[in-house]
Amino acid sequence: MSLALRAPDACPALVLNADFRPLSYFPLSLWSWQDALKAVFLDRVEVVAQYETRVRSPNFEMRLPSVVSLKTFVNHTRTPAFTRFNVFLRDSFTCQYCGSKERDKLTFDHVIPRSKGGRTTWENIIAACSGCNIRKGGRTPQEAHMAPARKPHRPTMFELNERGRAFPPHYLHESWQDFLYWDSELEP
Ligand SMILES: [Zn+2]
Repeated sequence: MSLALRAPDACPALVLNADFRPLSYFPLSLWSWQDALKAVFLDRVEVVAQYETRVRSPNFEMRLPSVVSLKTFVNHTRTPAFTRFNVFLRDSFTCQYCGSKERDKLTFDHVIPRSKGGRTTWENIIAACSGCNIRKGGRTPQEAHMAPARKPHRPTMFELNERGRAFPPHYLHESWQDFLYWDSELEP
């Protein structure tokens, strides 16, 4: 079997924690080949696997790492950022009212509507399909008789990571917007 060599820019390295689990599952922790090499030279990672692709300079040649592991364990106790992406991930990309998993119809709902003092927080924002969003309108769950499947809460990094493991690789390419600040993104 002959495989064409990948160009270096098509050679991201999967980054594992010191326990050899991905640093993050969703989005998958990947570094550019430049960042991966830098970490190798700074002795911050072990090379676990390599691509066939090599980079060369006059006094140096090396196969690009395809998997690296951190030498120091990174603890996932920091709190996750409040982003659209992370809210979707917490809610498993599922409408919390009807259970729909139609991703292109997924949007957000203020459980307590803003008109009734509901805030844009982890505890008041859930993933909801556009149909449920319209149906619920400006009503509270009690008024609309629509209760979220799970009470919204601030997730831990561990919880988000565990959630992310459930998603197959074709879900891994997300728009960068989902990682930006919540307030610049919520209002269309
Ligand atoms: Zn729904």
